[in-house]
Amino acid sequence: MTAEARKRISFVVPFYNEGVNVDLFHGTIKVTTAALPYDLEFVYVNDGSGDDTFARLRAIQDADARVTLVNFSRNFGHQKAITAGLDYATGDAVVIMDADLQDPPSVALELIARWEQGYEVAYAQRRTRKDGLFKRVTASAYYRLLARIGDVDIPRNTGDFRLMDRKVVDEIKKYREHDRYMRGIVASLGFNQIAVPFDRDERLHGETHYPLPKMIKLAVDGVLGFSTFPLTIMTRVGVAVSLFSVLWIIEVVLHKLFFPGDLVQGWSLTMIAILFMGGINLLMLGVLGSYIGRIYREVQDRPIYTLDGVYRAGEAERARPA
Ligand code: UDP
Ligand code: MG
Repeated sequence: MTAEARKRISFVVPFYNEGVNVDLFHGTIKVTTAALPYDLEFVYVNDGSGDDTFARLRAIQDADARVTLVNFSRNFGHQKAITAGLDYATGDAVVIMDADLQDPPSVALELIARWEQGYEVAYAQRRTRKDGLFKRVTASAYYRLLARIGDVDIPRNTGDFRLMDRKVVDEIKKYREHDRYMRGIVASLGFNQIAVPFDRDERLHGETHYPLPKMIKLAVDGVLGFSTFPLTIMTRVGVAVSLFSVLWIIEVVLHKLFFPGDLVQGWSLTMIAILFMGGINLLMLGVLGSYIGRIYREVQDRPIYTLDGVYRAGEAERARPA
């Protein structure tokens, strides 16, 4: 049984409307990893695609016994798709990468080399990215903000392209929060982590499935999931505004006592005060609401995702998840 002692590496890849990329991705990763002295497993998650992604993945899974196909019942989003991939991966190490070949497979080999050196997490860090100015500026501002207010140190300019040791994957699997920010969870775990710099390619085919609203949602999850600083800010602003109001109230009373004649003149100031207080109040309610929304979703304790089926070599046509 010596051959069985080989280490096993899983590749977890989420697919959402990536029909044009399915064959290309699998073909490329197969060639890149061909010489590796490991047993390989490819866990492909179909995140409720509306195109032919599922059919193409199914064909690949049929032809390659190393492929496990996890099929969602609808679109749950990238973070949940990689969560499912980790749930089903069986490797001693797991590599997460995108389906559009923006994460170069050659870099995955570097991640594996780092793992062999003893690192439990090797994350790919963008040295350059070929995104537009807007994305570059907002992303860099965001990571700086997160570093300042977050409870964990989330490395800058990293996505979810990384390798994790089985130990780490087993720990991640204990995190069942719904509004997930996977790179934050990994960062918060500790272990020996190392950055592997790389140049992020452009998407070859199709277009991004991360339009602005989704990007904002992910960014907000990063902040709310790893910081209570917005709540602290509410208290600080509340204290400042209250102190200011006390001074103003004193002024109003003195005015009333000593210059009772010209009180009506304060209309603009009154309007400003009402609008300002209204705005601050709503803003703070919004912050509270964001945390309450998270609490609500956690209290409901629903499953994070729903599967339509799992397809694996040597199993029934469509295995229903346990
Ligand atoms: N993805 C997914 N579900 C979604 C959106 C995206 O599984 O709802 C996958 C997508 O197929 C790709 C990866 O997540 O493999 C990254 O998405 P994309 O390339 O669109 O993001 P970008 O690289 O533009 O940030
Ligand atoms: Mg992409």
